[in-house]
Amino acid sequence: MKLSEFEKFCSVDKEKPMLTKSFNQGDYRYATDEYIVIRILNTEACKILENEKLPNMDALKWDHSEITKWQSLTNIDSSMIDKCVFCKGTGRVNVCHECDGDGEVNAETEYSSYLCDCATCNGKGSIGIGDEDSNECEDCEASGLNYSYRFKVNNRLVVYRQLKKIMTLPKLQIADYGEPNEIMRFKFDGGEGLIMPVYVSKGQD
Ligand SMILES: [Zn+2]
Ligand SMILES: [Zn+2]
Repeated sequence: MKLSEFEKFCSVDKEKPMLTKSFNQGDYRYATDEYIVIRILNTEACKILENEKLPNMDALKWDHSEITKWQSLTNIDSSMIDKCVFCKGTGRVNVCHECDGDGEVNAETEYSSYLCDCATCNGKGSIGIGDEDSNECEDCEASGLNYSYRFKVNNRLVVYRQLKKIMTLPKLQIADYGEPNEIMRFKFDGGEGLIMPVYVSKGQD
């Protein structure tokens, strides 16, 4: 697996810089965005520094010895997905003029200044449906699809944003194992991974 492919599983959250690159712990190299964790056996050729500030990844549920049933990912029909709520399915949004697309504005008092979320766009940097000349909607990667749409995979609910990421992994197999509120495990050619559970609050389907 190419490093660039592997690091697609890293976080893009600027506030968590230690997760924006892959890292080594023990015998493995890890990448995570906090929703999905994947790991591959580390090779000498791609040694990188250990990151001691991160939680102990090896303590997560990697023991697959009890799992007997693995399934490939089927029934993912993207025509079932509704439209992205941010761009209303257009894939385009207008840049927020208040913050110039940063999502943050500088707030000043007499004594100090600090960054805070832009109130006009709720920190998203974009606002409303755009036209052809406006920006790509980041929330749906300009696809116009609702990335928060939940698919049922075995007995779990998994959002499309996460499924889309793992669907590209070679020879992907999902464990048919465990309770709906537990971590979902998967393996692929060369590595394995975990998806954190989605909690559905009462009142929703
Ligand atoms: Zn969108
Ligand atoms: Zn804004």
